[in-house]
Amino acid sequence: MDIGTPPIPVSVKRSARARRFSLRISNKTGAISLTVPRFAAMKEAVKFAQEQEGWMRKHLASQIQPEQVALGRRILFDGQYCSIVAGQGRTARFEDGHLFVPGPEVKVGAKLAAYFKTLARERLVGASKHYAGLLGEDIGRVTLRDTRSRWGSCTSDGNLMYSWRLIMAPPSVQNYVAAHEVCHLIEMNHSVAYWDLVESIFPDYKAHRGWLKKNGTLLHRFEF
Ligand SMILES: [Zn+2]
Repeated sequence: MDIGTPPIPVSVKRSARARRFSLRISNKTGAISLTVPRFAAMKEAVKFAQEQEGWMRKHLASQIQPEQVALGRRILFDGQYCSIVAGQGRTARFEDGHLFVPGPEVKVGAKLAAYFKTLARERLVGASKHYAGLLGEDIGRVTLRDTRSRWGSCTSDGNLMYSWRLIMAPPSVQNYVAAHEVCHLIEMNHSVAYWDLVESIFPDYKAHRGWLKKNGTLLHRFEF
């Protein structure tokens, strides 16, 4: 089962001996398993896991483990976990909730990273142009990087930089980061006037900013 947004995958184990529900997080992998008494209703199990969402997130956040991108694993894409499966052709593609990655297994990480970069570029350039247009501004060059400390930046001559890992965040969060950066075309600071400007083109920015603060480290855990 998947709990919450972004979803936390929880594997369910039925146990003849268990008297109550119990959750366990593996220290090594961060994998979560829920032990369910043999005759308990699955609905109750889901409810129990949902009630523990806060606890799970807290634990997962405190033990973010790097995860190697590989066939058979799952990865965040547009805010959802998708399985990585062997594909055909030359480039990776997304279809029916799966990421199909062709070629030898050792190249899976590189191929998926290339695909993510291409998509991130399309999305973030499109969103930057859109939000800059709402402000009556033009954007300069857009560069994609793998940055640790920031999701985007904007120079005084209008050049934008984004982390391509944003492709793993929900599309609305990707849009928020683009709106955030293009507002720096007008206000090169984080003043009240700046946030008013953000709000004028992206009214519910606070929720999306919050998502990144809470879940941003998740996007860094994948190793390509
Ligand atoms: Zn900023």
